Amino acid sequence: MGDVQGGRPGRPVPAERGPVPVDRPGPAVEPSAPPGDLGWVEAAGPIRSPAVTATTAHPSGRVRAVPGSTAADELIPDRYVGPDGKSPSVFFLRRLAGALAVVPVLRLAVARYAVPPGVVDRAGCDGCGAPIGLDRPLPALGPVARCPACRGRIGATPLAVEALLLAAVAVLVLVDGPLAERAALAWWLGWAIPLVLVDLAVHRLPDRLTWPAAVGTWALLGVAASTGAGAGPWLRAMAAGAALGLAFATTTLLLGRRGFGLGDAKLALGVGALLGWQGWGLLVTGLVLTFLLSALVSVVLLASRRIGWSSHLPFGPFLVAGTCAALLLTG
Ligand SMILES: [Zn+2]
Repeated sequence: MGDVQGGRPGRPVPAERGPVPVDRPGPAVEPSAPPGDLGWVEAAGPIRSPAVTATTAHPSGRVRAVPGSTAADELIPDRYVGPDGKSPSVFFLRRLAGALAVVPVLRLAVARYAVPPGVVDRAGCDGCGAPIGLDRPLPALGPVARCPACRGRIGATPLAVEALLLAAVAVLVLVDGPLAERAALAWWLGWAIPLVLVDLAVHRLPDRLTWPAAVGTWALLGVAASTGAGAGPWLRAMAAGAALGLAFATTTLLLGRRGFGLGDAKLALGVGALLGWQGWGLLVTGLVLTFLLSALVSVVLLASRRIGWSSHLPFGPFLVAGTCAALLLTG
């Protein structure tokens, strides 16, 4: 047992395994870790080190087995942290780091489209006209959101995009499902973030953001259907998306400005698809949560005299929040 002193104390190791065949290139004891799990690889160091030491110390240069070097196969199950072989914290941090890379793109979308209806999309700083773009993302498209020339505010308030991105990654990590389904949700969330901020800023949901959100979500759910889920959920998702979009658009036709906007109707195409994919019950749950949240916030704002009875609250943020809340209930 002296050969495994570098390993974990108290771990059962076979006493005799005999030499490994000489054509074996190395200890070869590392089965591939499942996607999204870093914990196994990091924890493997102490186990591998005795074998490496033994190999380099041998005068012939051949690989020699040491007891314990082939024991990793037996150790796999208790290397995983958390349920289902996943390490939730590592899973979350990896996705958060990847998601932060899209901050400049999201900030550019908010800055460009957060303009009143009928006004041309914003291409530069309101104060000095300095152009904004992905070729020079900082500091205008970073968390501080300041113009590099005049230091004026550009687009969304500092840390707003980053906070929503954090929430979106949390939703993605917590909502379970096959890869293609999660890809559809990730796609929709990626468009929903600038949509929420643009709607809050100027009370509109631009076609440039709502259409790609809906079309991409429908397409990715189609991929999910063709890679395992089958046609049933996809047809239900399409029907739910179309029905919800149509219902919202109908209120616009019947009630004019007192109904939902057409931007809400286009956002609803993706919302209906995501919720309808899970079932009609979740679509109803999502709508109930959306209207409850909207009513709650309206009452609070009215009571605190932040808005009046004739004020118009943007509905997009509630639709996005209600959808996420409903999906989290299923996760
Ligand atoms: Zn400027």
